[in-house]
Amino acid sequence: MKDVIVIGAGAAGMTAALYALRNGKSVLILEEETVGGQIATSPRVENFPTIKESSGQDIANGLFEQITDLGAEFELEKVLKVEKDGKVFTVTTDYGRHEAKAVIIATGVKHKHLGFAGEEELTGNGISYCAICDGAFYAGQEVALVGDGNTALQYALLLSNYCTKVYVFTLFDKFFGDASLVKALRAKENIIVKPNTMITGYLGETELEGFVYKENGEEKKHYTKALFVAIGQVPDNKRFENLADLDKDGYFASDERCLTKTEGLFVAGDCRAKKVRQLTTACCDGACAAMAASEFIDKMGQ
Ligand SMILES: Cc1cc2nc3c(=O)[nH]c(=O)nc-3n(C[C@H](O)[C@H](O)[C@H](O)COP(=O)(O)OP(=O)(O)OC[C@H]3O[C@@H](n4cnc5c(N)ncnc54)[C@H](O)[C@@H]3O)c2cc1C
Repeated sequence: MKDVIVIGAGAAGMTAALYALRNGKSVLILEEETVGGQIATSPRVENFPTIKESSGQDIANGLFEQITDLGAEFELEKVLKVEKDGKVFTVTTDYGRHEAKAVIIATGVKHKHLGFAGEEELTGNGISYCAICDGAFYAGQEVALVGDGNTALQYALLLSNYCTKVYVFTLFDKFFGDASLVKALRAKENIIVKPNTMITGYLGETELEGFVYKENGEEKKHYTKALFVAIGQVPDNKRFENLADLDKDGYFASDERCLTKTEGLFVAGDCRAKKVRQLTTACCDGACAAMAASEFIDKMGQ
């Protein structure tokens, strides 16, 4: 039995592991995809204190090295459910079961999909949610992107470095991201913004051939081999609602203490209800949740 099981190896989960380990607790981290979570998909981070500029992947790698050096155990397993019987938590994954005295859920958020027919089949075959992962496949080609926030802006700038043209489709006639990113995007000649447009369906069955969109009420087609979808994120917390309350949008209802209605269960990072979802706030939650979990375990032993 571990002292603490952390679900999710993003910034929040790995920071939680760091603080729990430094409190002398044994820690197992369970991660369904890759180390780093969202930040690992960010080409450039410029707002993490003490680091002037870095790729998100480098930040994630540094944090992972820090916790594995301290003795964190890591398994690539998807958590399916968490149950509590008496004082013991059982965490069931797609590979088996693990037990712990305390659990910290740090599962972040998932990419929002446009939701049109064929999206599942076309994902990885022209539709992508991560420009840093898939952008280079389209070097020297024209690509399209849909979205109007910071992620969309960052992705468009990255793609513009090696794609001939980047068409950016936005629902309105403005962006909702940092002014510095908007300015940088406007300065790029090979980024073509298509404001007031709404994508309504995909073209292609096994490979993306393009998409249908509406502009001023008129239906049009845009032919492309790549569409990057950056329209926001949603939480995926329903599987844990037996032990932790969710708010109306599906985020864990908790506060900066990261507590849930179940003793010994804590939530951290983008998966919980809060206003600012950033690297710094995710790390802050991870620290708070781990301190609370350590205190809980210490009290158990008294
Ligand atoms: C493209 C992009 C650029 C960004 N740029 C910046 C920036 O410049 N500055 C900044 O401060 N913030 C930035 N952010 C936001 C920042 O990355 C997030 O706020 C922060 O990383 C959230 O961390 P987290 O650990 O809470 O969640 P996540 O990073 O989402 O990590 C959650 C982890 O949990 C795993 N997981 C989920 N469900 C399960 C399950 N059932 N079982 C096992 N594992 C599971 C996921 O695979 C994931 O690895 C950016 C985000 C994106 C997408």
